[in-house]
Amino acid sequence: RGRSAEELLEGLNDPQRRAVVHAGTPLLVVAGAGSGKTRVLTRRIAWLINERDAHPGSILAITFTNKAAAEMRERVTELVGNRAKIMWVSTFHSSCVRILRKEADKLGFTSSFTIYDAADSKRLMGLVCKEQDLDAKRFAPRAVLNWVSNAKNELLDPEDAAAAAQNVQEQTYAAAYTDYQRRLRAANAMDFDDLIMAVVHLFRAFPAVRESWRRRFRHVLVDEYQDTNHAQYALVHELCGTNPEEAEAEAVEPAELMVVGDADQSIYAFRGASIRNIMDFELDFPDAETILLEQNYRSTQTILTAANSVIARNDSRKPKNLWSDAGQGERIIGYVGDDEHDEARFVAEEVDRLTDAGDARAADVAVFYRTNAQSRVFEEVFIRVGLPYRVVGGVRFYERREVRDALAYLRALVNPADEVSLRRILNVPKRGIGDRAEACVTALADRERITFWQALQRAKDAPGIATRSLRNIEGFVAVMEELQQMVEAGERVDVVLEATLARSGYLTELEASDDPQDETRVENLGELVAVAREFADDPVLGPSADPADAADAADPVDGAAPAPQPGLTDFLERVALVADADQIPDAPDAEEGAPAPPGVVTLMTLHTAKGLEFPVVFLTGLEDGIFPHQRALGDKPELEEERRLAYVGLTRAQQRLYVSRAVVRSAWGAPSHNPASRFVDELPVDLVEWKRTAAEQTSWSRPAATWGVTAGRSSGAGGAVDGSFGRGLSSSTQKRFGAAAARADAAARATKGRDVPSLSAGDRVQHDSFGLGTVVSTEGAGDKAVASIDFGADGVKRLLLRYAPVEKL
Ligand code: ATP
Ligand code: MG
Repeated sequence: RGRSAEELLEGLNDPQRRAVVHAGTPLLVVAGAGSGKTRVLTRRIAWLINERDAHPGSILAITFTNKAAAEMRERVTELVGNRAKIMWVSTFHSSCVRILRKEADKLGFTSSFTIYDAADSKRLMGLVCKEQDLDAKRFAPRAVLNWVSNAKNELLDPEDAAAAAQNVQEQTYAAAYTDYQRRLRAANAMDFDDLIMAVVHLFRAFPAVRESWRRRFRHVLVDEYQDTNHAQYALVHELCGTNPEEAEAEAVEPAELMVVGDADQSIYAFRGASIRNIMDFELDFPDAETILLEQNYRSTQTILTAANSVIARNDSRKPKNLWSDAGQGERIIGYVGDDEHDEARFVAEEVDRLTDAGDARAADVAVFYRTNAQSRVFEEVFIRVGLPYRVVGGVRFYERREVRDALAYLRALVNPADEVSLRRILNVPKRGIGDRAEACVTALADRERITFWQALQRAKDAPGIATRSLRNIEGFVAVMEELQQMVEAGERVDVVLEATLARSGYLTELEASDDPQDETRVENLGELVAVAREFADDPVLGPSADPADAADAADPVDGAAPAPQPGLTDFLERVALVADADQIPDAPDAEEGAPAPPGVVTLMTLHTAKGLEFPVVFLTGLEDGIFPHQRALGDKPELEEERRLAYVGLTRAQQRLYVSRAVVRSAWGAPSHNPASRFVDELPVDLVEWKRTAAEQTSWSRPAATWGVTAGRSSGAGGAVDGSFGRGLSSSTQKRFGAAAARADAAARATKGRDVPSLSAGDRVQHDSFGLGTVVSTEGAGDKAVASIDFGADGVKRLLLRYAPVEKL
């Protein structure tokens, strides 16, 4: 069934075909962005199933996000039919969760262990630091956690880490690690980094378990291999039986391994990813086949040249020869906004213009930014102008307090040993169980060596507990037990969630409140119920129902075996995985997961954008200190990583690319003036057409104090002011720039009555911000008089004299 061999090779160039049909030895495909690496990987899976009779259950494909996994599975299904559905296509984390659900008992966990996300981990580490009396300044929980995460990515358990500690500080970290890990275990919980490390340790400790998984997966394929860290690298090799250091021969033949990647797109060094893994592939496997791809099928030559010229500034890289025959295409469009609102307005206006002209649909458009927080302004402006959008990257939804509270309830229900969750909701909503009562229960738990939950159930034995607190605790325990019975009875996830919100009094408290924020909270909880409902309705897509199990039992047929109703544990697992900062959620609302609906613009961080492509891309916030990130400014390796991130962003664009920034940006309330991003300076000048430059911008409305900082650099990036300069306050500009134009108007009124200085070439002038300058030339007269003035180090500026704060000397 499905496509013929010729059809599977259709639309592939020669090296791509070689990669698809390659058999036997390990295979490495390295190539620049948009050269078809992911396409090759997908086709190869179809080829393995159709032409080489591989059982779909024997294939493991690793992608970087859940969304990429869903797309890949869908694509393979198109090629070979429904039997592909049982394949494991998932992220490293999801794959490990699935393995651990089966094997957790061997590591001393139950199969319903909880997954702690970043926020939970931080809370727990906060507890640890407090208990160890660590100086909060020297040992912030976040920093300790970072250190622990690095240790885990290097596969060091607490003992290893303690043994490797070089100084007192590291010994302190290691001690915190030990305690943190002990508490996780007591709570029957693992954090994100544990998932990978646990599987590697499991395989190393239980060769028989490892062998059974090796028998199962005969083909392992990894996309975005440049972003694997050491633990993931080790996992791949444990799983394939290709560990270069493994001495004795194994009973099972090594699996066929294919990895694809691009060292220029490595953007996760901060999580321990190492391009060493891709660089050293040929050393690890002397018999490996390496295939290079050089044709880019995604972008116009203009976009590609721009991206190549930026990444070429990185020293530590192999030069590549990536080309496209898609033609030159449009020039890149640049824009400098007054502030971040003006920048967002520009984006909205451009989307309007493109859709009105029939050049693109809103769904073709993606807006990228460096950090999640930057989405807020785009959201505000898009809502105001009525431009539909979606924010991809779940973090914000799942980080909302009410959502986290609701999830904490659910976790406490399935895993009462999960103390962090239980304590979180103990007195939320307020039910008269204060700190003192909590301390009494804790004391009981310590004395009797029972869990916090068990102590709650026996609260009447708690030393010194007040009668009223006791009554309240008993009420809470009764509600939880009642809800637990629903879970045990196999009730649908959405039903359990709704019952929880109602019975706990959580919803009542919100609904009774006058705070408008609480209204939003109720809506968000409604959204969470919708996510749960969708999950309960469509178990096939979830990571939960393990379709490969059905495959083990019976040979799969089209339509696959009916999957069991997924449980609460599965739901929480799914949520924990999508809530990770870099996972794309499949369904925070009804629209996500499916391809973007036709009228909707996509907003996402650059990290999330990896592997994706869009006809129209806006790269925003291009300011030194924003992107590249503040942290990277004085640090070469970090700066190179930011540059790779810029390369990733630029190469997402297929036809049209915009680069923009804001002169003033309010960060944490205080406005900051950031210079243009150095990455903008690295774009070839002739490829960028500036709709509005800093010079134009400044001559209208920029507060004088900010001039010196930015104008010099951006004129270097943007080149001379273009013909649109004099357009100033035309009605079209009024419409387009809204508030910016209004502000310019106000500035105009303010300067009214001031004489426009009459200048001629050679005159010396004083400018409020640029200082002394010499007039090079002038044109126009009266209100339209423009002078080009040489300000030395700040360069030559063209200024509309009516607004420019210059004085003739
Ligand atoms: P990235 O590095 O960004 O992950 P990639 O190397 O994985 O990119 P793909 O996403 O697989 O590249 O391919 C980029 C685009 O080019 C896709 O739209 C894909 O369908 C198309 N493409 C790939 N190979 C060919 C080909 N031989 N002919 C036509 N189109 C192709
Ligand atoms: Mg790809």
